[in-house]
Amino acid sequence: MYLLVLKANILTPTIATIKNCLFCNKKITGRTDKKFCDDYCRNAYNNQLKSTANNLVRNINNALSKNRRILETLLPPTDKMAKVHIDKLLQLGFQFK
Ligand SMILES: [Zn+2]
Repeated sequence: MYLLVLKANILTPTIATIKNCLFCNKKITGRTDKKFCDDYCRNAYNNQLKSTANNLVRNINNALSKNRRILETLLPPTDKMAKVHIDKLLQLGFQFK
């Protein structure tokens, strides 16, 4: 039977000793794997990332809603299907991408 012995520092990143906060860019002191100077910077950084992702989703949802409104105006109330030329869709602002 063998016993596996790991060095204590094997889990601690030692690549960079002087790092800057990912949010405010101030020098970080303390643990070598720290990314932010404090909780405020960590939260602000994560909120910033989240808001970027939320904006992307919001823009896609707005484009889809607008496309749906355009298609509704082109479909006669009695029909289930209609044929529309692409130029007409582009003229009304339909987004294909
Ligand atoms: Zn900071």
